Amino acid sequence: MNENKIALFGGTFDPIHLGHAAVTEFAAKKINASKVILIPAKQSPLKPSSPIACDADRLNMIKLAIENNPLFEASDYELNNKPPSFTINTVRFFKNKFHGSEIYWLLGADSTKELGYWYMIEELIDICHVCVMYRAGFPAPDFSMYADLLGEKCVKKLNADVIETPLIDISSTKIRKMIKEEQDIKELVYPKVAGYIQKHDLYR
Ligand code: ATP
Repeated sequence: MNENKIALFGGTFDPIHLGHAAVTEFAAKKINASKVILIPAKQSPLKPSSPIACDADRLNMIKLAIENNPLFEASDYELNNKPPSFTINTVRFFKNKFHGSEIYWLLGADSTKELGYWYMIEELIDICHVCVMYRAGFPAPDFSMYADLLGEKCVKKLNADVIETPLIDISSTKIRKMIKEEQDIKELVYPKVAGYIQKHDLYR
C-alpha cells in the first residue's frame, strides 16, 4: 500500500454494484494504491433520463456499499459542480488535494473506443495514469488501433497502464432491468444497497 498513490473511479453508479468494487479493489492492489475514491457523476439537466436515480440516492448507495471497507471513499466533488464534469478538471482537483501523490484514473474497457474523443485527453494522460480495466463483454483493451486519434505517445502510455482485471459480468443496466422484471438482484449488489433500492422503490 502506498500513501502516494490514489485511484479515482468516476461513473454514474446507478446503482453501484459488486463489479465496481471487485475490479477497483483488484486494480488498487495491482497499482499499490492506498485509496480508491468513488466519484459519482452529476445528473445532467440536459439528460434528465440518465442517470435514473437522483444524485443523493446514488451517493447514499455508494456510502452504504463502502462503509465497511477502508480502501474506499466517496466524493461528492462532481455532484457539487456544474455539469458537464470533465475528467481533467476532476483529476486536477484531486491532484491538488493530494499534492505530491500519483493519481490513477480507473475506467472499464467499454470506454476504450471513446477515450480518444475525451476532452483534453492528451493532457489527462500527461497528468495522471489513465488505467483501462478489462470488462466482460468487451475486447481486451488495446489502443494500438487508435494511434491516428491519440498519437503514439498516448497509445504507449495507455497500453502500459491497462489492468487485466477479472471479468465480472455485472452492469447497472442489467440490475435496473432485473428490478423492472422483479428478479432478485441480491447476487449483484451489496445487501444494504439492495435494501436501499427496495426501501426507496428505485428503478421500478
Ligand atoms: P450502466 O450499465 O448504467 O452503463 P455501468 O455498470 O457501466 O453502468 P458505471 O457507473 O457507468 O456502471 O461505470 C463506472 C465505471 O465502472 C466505468 O468506467 C465502467 O466501465 C466501469 N465498470 C462498471 N462495471 C464494470 C465491470 N463489471 N467490470 C469492469 N468495469 C466496470
